[in-house]
Amino acid sequence: MIVADLRSDTLTQPSQGMREAMVSAPVGDDVFGEDPTVAALEQRVADLLGHERGLFTPTGSMAGQLAVRAHVGPGQELIADHLAHVLRAEPGAAAALSGITSRSWHATRGVLDPQMPLGMMTPDAGPYMVSTTCIVVENTHNFGGGTVQTLEALQAVKQGAQDAGVAVHMDGARLWNAHIASGVSLAEYGACADTVSVCLSKGLGAPVGSVVVGDAEMISEARVWRKRFGGGMRQIGILAAAADYALSNQLARLADDHAGAQQAAQSIHAAHEGVVDPDNVHTNVLMLDVTQAGWKAADFVDAAAERGVRGMAVGPTAVRFVWHLGVSAEQSAHAAKVLAELIDRSPA
Ligand SMILES: *Cc1c(COP(=O)(O)O)cnc(C)c1O
Repeated sequence: MIVADLRSDTLTQPSQGMREAMVSAPVGDDVFGEDPTVAALEQRVADLLGHERGLFTPTGSMAGQLAVRAHVGPGQELIADHLAHVLRAEPGAAAALSGITSRSWHATRGVLDPQMPLGMMTPDAGPYMVSTTCIVVENTHNFGGGTVQTLEALQAVKQGAQDAGVAVHMDGARLWNAHIASGVSLAEYGACADTVSVCLSKGLGAPVGSVVVGDAEMISEARVWRKRFGGGMRQIGILAAAADYALSNQLARLADDHAGAQQAAQSIHAAHEGVVDPDNVHTNVLMLDVTQAGWKAADFVDAAAERGVRGMAVGPTAVRFVWHLGVSAEQSAHAAKVLAELIDRSPA
């Protein structure tokens, strides 16, 4: 049976070329600042995003948490949309580790409307109220369904925030996908935030690793906090080499993942119009409202898995499928066919 594992784009296996790059990477103790492969990767990512410096972290969560704690003091707040990863995932890290409070605005499918954060932020709120010191934007938006934010919206948030003395952090775990889908350069996106975090371990296919970029002062401070959080690592050039290989060899192919998700969206839409609008499938994430076709999310996941298509229920109504480099053209076509057939027929 053909099996397409679309539960997440973190399920990739390192390719042979990637493994070879890891074997031959020069390494040193990175806590001593002596790993040349890590230093090169950090600078490569910072340059791509148009920022001064970068810092390699074991996870995207740590990269994002280092950024927000640089921008927000204890008892101050960050604001983000109600589906943001920083608020809904990372089990409350900003509050638990950094004493940060938060508020959110509502965003359909994670689409960024600049008026929402700019209208609700309260910089310099005085001694009795909570001061906003950071806006977090997410691009692409994960729980929103891989949504690509428009450059105009991102620029408007940056401008408005800057005028008010509020920082912007961009959670760019899948910024690579936004870049490939929209053609907007990474530097243009990078200019819309004071700090950006990116994952090498999602669609790019590295086994481990994220990078947070910002100015030199912020990154020096983040280096101290990374150690404090227990994220000071030693000969991690072998990991940075995998990430570097991914950037060189596995970035452009993200377009195949986007095409796979789009193909499935169109097949499903042809079977039932209400389950997904293909225009809202911007990248590699396919979010289906299966209740529109009479399914419960958990039952749909089980039925699809029985036919070799693995996805994940996100709540009672939505099911998520994510394309990645481990999905062959044959597996992708199989997924589109199976999902459309299941949507077409009512649950038993
Ligand atoms: C995956 C993800 C993260 C965190 O990455 P981890 O490496 O799993 O900690 C942060 N933000 C978004 C939007 C993500 O999808």
